[in-house]
This record gives sequence, C-alpha cells and structure tokens, in this order.
Amino acid sequence: MIVNGYHEYWLGSAPQPLADKRWFDTHIASLQEHVSPGKLVIELGTHAVDWISGRPRPVVQPFARIMSALADQQSLPEFVTEAGNTRASYVDGQGLQHRAWMLEAASAHNQILTLQKRGVTAFGLSGLGYEDPGIWAVIDQTTRGLNLHGESLKNVVLSNYVELLGHGPFVAPISMPEVGKRAVETTSAGKISAVFYEELPRASIVQLYGAGAPNQVVLTFDDGPHPQHTPATLDILRDTQTPGSFFVLGNNAAAAPDIVKRILTEGHELGSHTYSHPNMGEVSASRAKVEINSTQLLLNGITRKNIRLYREPYMRSGGPITSKEVASIMPLEKAGYIIAGMDVVPRDWITQTADELADEIIRQVETNAGGVVLLHDGGGIKVRPLLPYRG
Ligand SMILES: [Zn+2]
Repeated sequence: MIVNGYHEYWLGSAPQPLADKRWFDTHIASLQEHVSPGKLVIELGTHAVDWISGRPRPVVQPFARIMSALADQQSLPEFVTEAGNTRASYVDGQGLQHRAWMLEAASAHNQILTLQKRGVTAFGLSGLGYEDPGIWAVIDQTTRGLNLHGESLKNVVLSNYVELLGHGPFVAPISMPEVGKRAVETTSAGKISAVFYEELPRASIVQLYGAGAPNQVVLTFDDGPHPQHTPATLDILRDTQTPGSFFVLGNNAAAAPDIVKRILTEGHELGSHTYSHPNMGEVSASRAKVEINSTQLLLNGITRKNIRLYREPYMRSGGPITSKEVASIMPLEKAGYIIAGMDVVPRDWITQTADELADEIIRQVETNAGGVVLLHDGGGIKVRPLLPYRG
C-alpha cells in the first residue's frame, strides 16, 4: 500500500509545512494500525510548494527553482526545526510575493529515520527531478544504517534543473550552476536539527529567444547534405519559393561540397551540426572542439563564409534541462555562434506519407508550439525524408 507522506495543497490553502514532523509521526502511526509495516510504502515528498500572492492555487516547484530565486533575491531559506520542513519567502521581479515550503534533504533524512524506527523500510520519492540533490547522499547513508556525514550535504549543485528565461527556439546559455554551501547540525538521535546556508546554490541560466509570429513556419533540415535527398529537397524549395535552413554535418559536407554551395546560392541558411553527430554532452572537450572547428573550417573552405549558425545533435525542443546540456553549448556561445533549437519535431523518421507528415506539423503549429520545424534531409537508412508539401 503506497501512501503519501506529505500534504497536497489546493485552492485557497494558506502557506504551511508540507509534512509537519508531528503530523508525519501521527500519520505513520495511524497507518500502522491498519497496515502491517511490511506492506506499507511511504511516498516521501521531495518538492516545494509555492504560494504566490494573488493566485489562489499554490504551485508545486522544484527545489532548484526556489533556491535559485532565493539566490537572486538574497533571501535565506529557514529550516524550521519544530516542523522539520524548510520555509522560504521572496519577492520576484514582478513584485509578487512568494511564500514557499520545501521538503529538502534534511526533511527526508529525518523522515526516513522515523520510518526505520517504526519498522517501515519501504519508501518512495515523489516528484523526481524536483528534489534537493542532497537527497541521494541521505538515502545512501540512511539505508545502509550509517550516521549522516554532514559533509555529504555541504555542497549543493543544482545540475538537474535549468532556469529558462524568455521564449523561443534560439538558445543562449548565460551561466553555469553556482555551488551552494550549507552546514547541518544533528541531535544525539542522529536527526537533523538545523540547516544553515552559507552560500545559496543557483541553477544554470539559459535565455531562450527568437520566437516568430504565430502561424509563421521555418523549415529546417538536419544531418545532410545527402547526395539524393538534399537536391530533391532543394528542387521542391526552389519550385515553391520556400526558404529553408540546413544544418549540415561536416563529414557529409566534405563528400558533397557542391550541394553545400547550392544551399547558399539558392538563398537558404546554412548551419553547422558538428562533424560526425556525436552526443556533445558525452564527448571530451577536445573532441567537441574538433567537431566544431573542423566543420567551421570545412564550410568556410567550401563557401568562403564564416558559418555562425549551429544546432547541437540530439537537442531537445524547449531548451536544455540539465547543466550538462548547458555546459556543452557554452563554448559555442562564447565562440559567437547563434544556437538554434526547434519548436516542432514531427516524426519524420517513421514511415508516413507527405500528407500525414504535413498534417502532424500543422497540428503542432496550430497548438502554438512555435514555428521552427525540424526535418531531416540526411541520415541514411534510418531517415526517409518526405517533404511536407502537397503537389
Ligand atoms: Zn541531427
């Protein structure tokens, strides 16, 4: 039996702890009257709830988001010992008052000890991705029966959350995460009684920009040039007088320099998509540099132009969500590239007719997803491009 170990707050509630210590103890005790400890799974909260002035419904937020906002406003969170939960408040850039309660690593630590004392060994975590990263050290130590090593909670690195500013398919990384520092005090029973933040952590920040007008569509083609598909694509674009953007791979461009030239001659945009399509977040910094610089030199040799448009392989729509993804595009930003993402990702890698593909794109654009459409004109066996044009 899986039971929430925290409250859910809805319309009209007042700011209050998410899992007050006394409530948590009583809640577990009363559950145990009905369910045997071996069958009970408690779902621990690992998130924040934010009561914002003027909004009747509180908002569930990631720990990282609240901490970044507190860092911005130079406002310290307070671990309320009696409640065993953390309280935070700040005024945002629009003048809205935020009153948040959080379940940070310290709360989880104390709750797990309470469960263990009561013989409940099974617990789950709610809202993964919303958690204080220190929770993993807590779980590792408590489940092995170790006393908490305070140092393990000291550094707070918000690597699984990115603060996205603005809207649009273009991505400009602004900063990497800043490491927070905190100290904890424990009682003789091993529970955390106090948490002090010496430095507040801050998530990486990315500016999104370049949103087009509604119903305006930009067609982009990745992974080419391909000896057959790209000329066929260019023919259709020419005949329909449609401009496109081509994000080419260095190794394909080297094999088809004339097609690269044709892309520019016929008035399309040309961008780099690396030399060999690696996952740039997974390769070494020196390999990443070679991927970018060799493609730049090659395209420069073919076109006599400096290509400043770039799209990262395996980029997701909506902007990066981990600091690793931000780290991999940061050198490109510093080198002056314009980093293009996408809004609409139709599944052009599965077999469907041009009409089906066009319908899917139009459907997504009409839901205001944005207008930059990712298609593929290269990629060999996996990719079978079917252009979204009728006639
Ligand atoms: Zn690609």
